Amino acid sequence: MRLTVDGRGLTDDGLDAMKAGLSAMGQAEATVIVTDRFVDTVRGLTSQTEYSTARGSGEVAARTVHANNESTVVVNAEVARMRPTGDIERLLAHEAGHIQLNERGEGPEGRRNLVSAEWEWLLLCVGALALDEFRIERSLAGLGYPIAETATIPSAELALHHLNVEVMEALLDPANAADPRRLSEAIARTHDWYSKHLAYFAAFRSGLAGTGLAGLSARGKQDWDDYVGDTWPGRLELYASVPTSLESINEAGLNDLLRQAGQQEAALLSKIGFRYSTQGNGYSFKRVITDAHCATRIQRASSRPR
Ligand SMILES: [Zn+2]
Repeated sequence: MRLTVDGRGLTDDGLDAMKAGLSAMGQAEATVIVTDRFVDTVRGLTSQTEYSTARGSGEVAARTVHANNESTVVVNAEVARMRPTGDIERLLAHEAGHIQLNERGEGPEGRRNLVSAEWEWLLLCVGALALDEFRIERSLAGLGYPIAETATIPSAELALHHLNVEVMEALLDPANAADPRRLSEAIARTHDWYSKHLAYFAAFRSGLAGTGLAGLSARGKQDWDDYVGDTWPGRLELYASVPTSLESINEAGLNDLLRQAGQQEAALLSKIGFRYSTQGNGYSFKRVITDAHCATRIQRASSRPR
């Protein structure tokens, strides 16, 4: 591990746990920055000046940044210090998966020609990012790591609640009502984190389509049926054939997977309540659920799950 520490760093046990996670995935030589200035560091490495961790249902503990043909794992020290060493090991094993996929070029980069319309490309990219998370989590499952916290039933219920709240807030925001592009961008941000969440959730439930959901509360079940429902078997079927991040995929197979992943995201997006379609040289973004349907969602969104 090539380590840079910026700030208070981690304990020796924490550092050993990081090394163990990287080694388990065959990435013992990874470049790692442990920093108390997580957001600034990620922004500096990616030149994404808008990057923030204030989205979705969980705090961001690490992010692997790919820049100048090199992968760097940036660890959020403030979050990592609060975690037991087992979590830190798992975290670094997960990030090692991102390094692997990046080094083999198995992401959407350079594959814009796979689809024609801009909106299809947006969905393909969402699907590709979720696919990465799924493949990495399958590697971790194979290595005997425990289920990710985000894939547990309580986290799944909380994520569904956040999903509903964010989607309804986006719809009710007057600035979005006046500007469809702004609305589509807000929904895309929510769709992006939620589809990753589903990928995590699926990774420890493949082949268990029904049983994996048995633990949902009545409220969770309502949210699930409303937002995921009949799209779930299709996603599981797609993911069932996907190799883990430890195994490479040939070009033709990968292109096919990425196209299908984009189609799965189109299906999820219509469950969320929206649809893109081609219009002239551009595209439209429209709500596809009724006002009455939205009213039931708003009612659920305004009361926290128990
Ligand atoms: Zn990840």
